[in-house]
Amino acid sequence: MLSRPNTQNFYAEITSASPEVSGSCITVSVHYPDNTSTSFIVDCGSFQERQYEKLNSSFHFDPKKVDFALITHAHIDHIGKLPFLVSEGFSGPIYCTEDTKKIMQPALNDSYRIACDNAKQNSTSMLYTKEDVSTVLDLTRGIIFSKTIQVDKNIRVTFFKNGHLFGAAVILVEVSFPGCKPINFIFSGDYNNKNPFYEVPALPDYVYSLPVYVFIESTYAYMNSSEVKYVFEENTQRFFYDHPSGSLVIPCFSLRIQEMLLKIRNMQKAGLLDSNIPVYVDGKLGINYTNLFLDKKLSCVDEDKYDFLPRRVHYVNRKIRLNRYISTNPQIIIASSGTGSYGPAQAYLQKMLSRDDVLFHFTGYAPEGTMARRLKDSPTDTFVKVGGILTKKNAQVEFTNEFSAHAKRDEIIGFLKPFKNIQAVFPTHGQENSKNIIGEEALLQTSAQEVGILSDKVSFRVGPDGLISSRERF
Ligand SMILES: [Zn+2]
Repeated sequence: MLSRPNTQNFYAEITSASPEVSGSCITVSVHYPDNTSTSFIVDCGSFQERQYEKLNSSFHFDPKKVDFALITHAHIDHIGKLPFLVSEGFSGPIYCTEDTKKIMQPALNDSYRIACDNAKQNSTSMLYTKEDVSTVLDLTRGIIFSKTIQVDKNIRVTFFKNGHLFGAAVILVEVSFPGCKPINFIFSGDYNNKNPFYEVPALPDYVYSLPVYVFIESTYAYMNSSEVKYVFEENTQRFFYDHPSGSLVIPCFSLRIQEMLLKIRNMQKAGLLDSNIPVYVDGKLGINYTNLFLDKKLSCVDEDKYDFLPRRVHYVNRKIRLNRYISTNPQIIIASSGTGSYGPAQAYLQKMLSRDDVLFHFTGYAPEGTMARRLKDSPTDTFVKVGGILTKKNAQVEFTNEFSAHAKRDEIIGFLKPFKNIQAVFPTHGQENSKNIIGEEALLQTSAQEVGILSDKVSFRVGPDGLISSRERF
């Protein structure tokens, strides 16, 4: 005679690697009533804040005991440690969307090159090899959006469209066991409800009806979408009005270059920008990503959005960059990296910051310790150290957060509201205060019964009927 399963023994243990924003990696260990178990991770990102850098050389779990990995999107703070995971013995499948798989290859190769440079500069040893990068790509399986796949006999996974980045997904994980109620998880990854290149549909109705644990990012929880200031168009127009032969330099993340090209094209079309001003794109990785688009290799992009290039676009490399530094004709230069701390953007800062007919317009977050922050904190007419070279800051420097690809507080709550039965919300990927804000708002405005603030200092046990227990580590 078959005995009924002991449903008390069906639960999942949850931990996180990340104290704050970067280094995203959530572990879920599912324990079944028959005493078997399955462990998986969601994302495996590098730490980018200086104070957490040492966390890049270890894991808070044994990689050999992880059965599979799920990846929400291809930013390095979500995938950067995958090659190290492999070098430490992980050999299971890595599931992500087809588009994320395509972006992962150039992203991980570039990250490997930077890691090699840093290791050489600091006389440290590498944590992983080029072969580990290849192994990651071999283990990665690209899944189409909205198709449910069975990853093992008890676990089904579905990737839904997310506006944060090409290929980005909100992941639904449904864990079942015969005779027991299921345990369901939603992982938002970094989330945005819109993208200039494609529509982001709501999740299907059946998802909103599931009893579910929701892991939600909270990076920009400290502000509402109405507080975003749209200044790029006005700054650009005013600059070229005042400096008809000036240079606009846009330090830009490699995966935001396409959006900036689209923005410039739209400004040209609307008559806000002279279409005769040439647009130069500088940054190998950014050009590689842009070509993925132009070759129509990304399935998430809406067909009518592939045509996004402005007039007079040229690609630039190190050899022909010199002409850009000395040009006295009007020009727009889009160069990686977004913080100006690395790559061509740093070279343009070194050579052009002293010119008073140049505008450097940053388009992203300026974290502590970056070139962007140093420029923000330095008044005009003072000397600034750029890559070790002292340079007079005569150029204008502007910032905007209007291109941010993260949902703001109201949009995060808007994501949670349609869920009818949230067993618990776990705010993650944000500073402590931001996670708390989302937790409190979720309790007040959504169906969330409980809130667990996810960090590297706490673990949670959840079951089919709700949160079972939590344990803080001090
Ligand atoms: Zn991201």
